This record gives sequence, C-alpha cells and structure tokens, in this order.
Amino acid sequence: MVSSDPSRPAGSFVLTKYVFVTGGVTSSLGKGITAASLARILKSRGLSVVLQKLDPYINVDPGTMNPFEHGEVFVTEDGGETDLDLGHYERFLGADLRRDSNVTTGAVYQSVIRKERRGDYLGATVQVIPHITNEIKSRIRKLGSDDVDVVITEIGGTVGDIEGLPYLEAIRQMRKDVGRANTCYIHVTLVPYLPTSEELKTKPTQHSVAELRSTGIHPDVIVPRSDRPIDDSVRRKISLFCDVDSDAVINATDAADIYEVPLDMLAAGLDRVVCRVLEIDAPEADLSDWRDMVHQLAHPEETVTIGLVGKYIDLPDAYLSVVESLRHGARANKAKVDIRWIPAEEVDGLLAESHLEGLHGILVPGGFGIRGVEGKIHAIRHARENAIPFLGLCLGLQCAVIEYARNVLGINDAHSTEFDPTTQSPVIDLMLDQHDVEDMGGTMRLGVYPAKLTPGSLADQLYGEPLVYERHRHRWEVNNRYRSALADAGMAASGVSPDDRLVEIVEITDHPYFIASQFHPEFTSRPDAPNPMFTGLVAAALKYKHHDVGSESAMAPLQVEH
Ligand code: GLN
Repeated sequence: MVSSDPSRPAGSFVLTKYVFVTGGVTSSLGKGITAASLARILKSRGLSVVLQKLDPYINVDPGTMNPFEHGEVFVTEDGGETDLDLGHYERFLGADLRRDSNVTTGAVYQSVIRKERRGDYLGATVQVIPHITNEIKSRIRKLGSDDVDVVITEIGGTVGDIEGLPYLEAIRQMRKDVGRANTCYIHVTLVPYLPTSEELKTKPTQHSVAELRSTGIHPDVIVPRSDRPIDDSVRRKISLFCDVDSDAVINATDAADIYEVPLDMLAAGLDRVVCRVLEIDAPEADLSDWRDMVHQLAHPEETVTIGLVGKYIDLPDAYLSVVESLRHGARANKAKVDIRWIPAEEVDGLLAESHLEGLHGILVPGGFGIRGVEGKIHAIRHARENAIPFLGLCLGLQCAVIEYARNVLGINDAHSTEFDPTTQSPVIDLMLDQHDVEDMGGTMRLGVYPAKLTPGSLADQLYGEPLVYERHRHRWEVNNRYRSALADAGMAASGVSPDDRLVEIVEITDHPYFIASQFHPEFTSRPDAPNPMFTGLVAAALKYKHHDVGSESAMAPLQVEH
C-alpha cells in the first residue's frame, strides 16, 4: 500500500484512503490536533499523508474574518488564507499544504452557483443533495492521488449543527463511493468528570454517537477526551453503547503540551486501529525524534521574557503561529519563552514604561489598521535605543521603518499611507503598480516569494542561504525612495526580492539583534525545524539577559546617529 515503496511496480494503481474526523458534545475538543497527530504517526509509518479542514461557515475563506473572533489566518505557500488548524497540520506533519486543504461552505456554494450560471447542470434543479454534496466530495477526492496514501479530513463544528449536515452526508457517501476498507470515521467526544459522583460520564458520548449514526455514519474509532484516564469499565461502556471495538476507544487525556499528543495517540494505538480499518500494511511507527523534541520542550534550562506588542492580545489565538514559533525557537536554545502580552495602544501613554520594563526581547507581529501603531513604534524605539533584541513581522517591519525614519533620519511626519494617506513622507507605501495589483485580484501579496539576502548580513547568518522563500500577506511595502537614506543611516535592506524592487528584510547593523521581515516567518516554523528568525531572537534575548545582570553597558543606549 505504501506508495513510496520501491517494490511497487511503476504505474501501478494505488488507491488513496480517506480518514474523516468529526467531533461531538462540544467544540474545541482538539479535533485538529487529533487529526494532525494521526497524520504525524502515519507519516512515521512510511505513508504519505495530506490533511484537510472543511469549515461549515459561509465565508469563502477566513481571510476577511476578524482575528478577535476567529483567531489567526494561516497562509499557505500557494497564498491560501486558511483556518488556523492548517498551521497545526503543517507543524505536526512537517509538510507544506496547499489552499485546497481548506474548504468552506461559502467556497462550495460559490463554485456550485458559478456552474449553475454557466449552464453546466443542463437545466437540472440544483440541490444540496447531490450538487452540494458532490462538490464537497470532489474537493475531498481532489487531494487523493497516486502519491498520497491517506487523506485526513476534519469536519469543523460539532455533530448536530445544521450547517454541518451536507458535510456529514458527503462523507457518508464516500464510504459507498470508494469502499469500506478505504474509509475510516473517527469521532472525537468529551467524557466529563463529575466531582459529585466522582465518575467519568459516557452519556454525552453516547448521545453524540447516536446523533452521528442518525446521519448514517457509524464511527470506526472514538476518541473520548477526558481530564483523567478512562478505566476499562468506561471503555467497555463506550464500546458497547457506541458499537465500536474496545481497542478502538482511544482515550486522549489532557496533555501538558500539544506536541505530546502524537506520542499519547501512538501509545493508545490510534494508528494501529486506523491501519486495521483501512487494511494498510505499513511498518511500525517511530516517533523517537519527536519524543526527544517534546522532552526538550518540557525541560528548558532557562527562561527569557519576550514582549509581544500587538492589537489582538485578548485572543492569543490571533497570534498562534507566532507563539508556536517562539516556542520552537526557544527549544532550539534549550530555553523557554515567557510571553508578556502587551496591548499596543497602552505603550503610547503612561503605562508604556511598566509594560516594557524587564523584557529580554520585543516582538511586533503583523496587523491591520491604525489602532496601536504608535504604541508599536514606541516599543520599537525602546528596543532600538536600549539594544534590546527585536523582531518585527510584516506590520512590525513597517513600524520599524517608520520609527527609524522619524527618530534617526529626523523625518518627523514619516508614516505609512495605510494610516495617513496624505502624508508627505510615505516611507511605507503601495509599491506595486496598478497593473500588478490588478493581476493579484486587487488585494494582497499572498503566499511564497523569494528573498535574496545580503552576504554577511544578520539575515544571511541566520538563514545560511543566499535565497529564502517565505510567505506573505500584506499590501504595503517599504518605499524605495527612502531605501538609500535608511541604509546610509544604518538600517539596511538585507533581504530584497530577486529583481530588487521590494524590500523583504531590514536590519540595523549597529545593534545586537534588530531585524524585521515583510514576510511572515511564523508560517514556516516547525517544532522540529524552527524558523531561524525566532531561534535568533531567543538566542539574542538569552545573551541580553546574561549581560543584563549587573551590566551597565548593556542598558546604555546605542550610539546611533540622530
Ligand atoms: N497592514 C499591513 C499591510 O497590509 C501589514 C499587514 C500584515 O502585517 N500582515 O501591508
């Protein structure tokens, strides 16, 4: 079955198998982490795996959704604006996914309606069944190919939601379409502990499975989440009432760290049951490298405090990939990062000093809109003048350029035309001409673009490669008119597009660690392969921390020209 198996005759027919992950009882049970963990285990068994998330909301993609409500928008390398679960998928699987790994109801309806307008349905009445369900199935099957052994598709939401029904119907039909041994249904539920009776309760799981079965789907595996291990009697109960094999009840107790979940799922035998259902004969899983990585995460030798100065800090999920990347970078330094969440709009006033005191590093992430921009600029000035390690991401780069232009070049009204369209000193501006913008659908620079790094620069030292590929999601850019003035004053464009038209990275040469990127390095960081921008930040923060103790000089402002 293993498509990478060299013994497989060339051109032989390999059927992709499909795993579906649904959830019941409540949302936020970790279906995404379960799907991602299974993917990682199957990959370690030599299988090639792709993950997918089906989201039952009407937005065509999450690109337009408020991060306060929906969390981060994860950007795939082909420029898809996707659900944050895709970030988990990529980080666990250690592979890049494409935009078609995220499908929404809005996108499904949009293509069905487009086909209807084109007359593709030849006068038929267009209905949820079969037209919507067929569209859903084709988007699932599209991920299958000769090179893919298993597609794992997570259905967003909870069984019983009205908007989820077409998805459940579509995946029910999939078993008929591709065959019993080519489909596996996993249902994730909650088994709550009731302190009054001192018992784990299976009734919600029974109800949830009954609900699922009413749609015609009979789960092969049940993953009951609980805050403590379930015992054999609870397992037997779930097995009996929900009609699954008792070894197919894969208990997932709350893990201290999400990266432990693949190890827990492996120990609980999830992959064994899935491979049995799918009739896959593959080598045993080996997660020893992953295990070492998790061990290192759990045993840091020291801690640094990094201030994350942002607008959406009330919902940390809005910066999920940044937070994970900091953890990855910390692990590579045998350290742990304590994130201080700093509301950007408060760094502009009386509270600024208390927010910024005692930090070993400062990170200004991406964002949209003017709120908090002055606070970010203030925080960046503090980092620059006090030699505190600084990493700016996207808007963070733009704020760093504005700060440098204002306070070092003396251009007091320097701004971005995003925030002040009439500024006389647009150091950040729309750089792509109208023609380019129309080609890009009139919106953003999205997805992977190459950046050429200046030999010997900090960027070059971090990446160790002359050309790097990172993901973008923005409209504004550094205005080239100011590039040489910035460089002459000590802020170099150390990464540029290969045609030299766009600035990708800036750094201050006369600072221990001051670097910012127009791209989002957080989208390519993996727990076992951290992005160097974050590894570098944590390394510099550790250095800063050590100098800090009793050292006057580390606190003295840098000698930058004003
Ligand atoms: N708002 C800025 C732009 O559109 C930055 C976007 C971001 O940080 N992702 O260019």
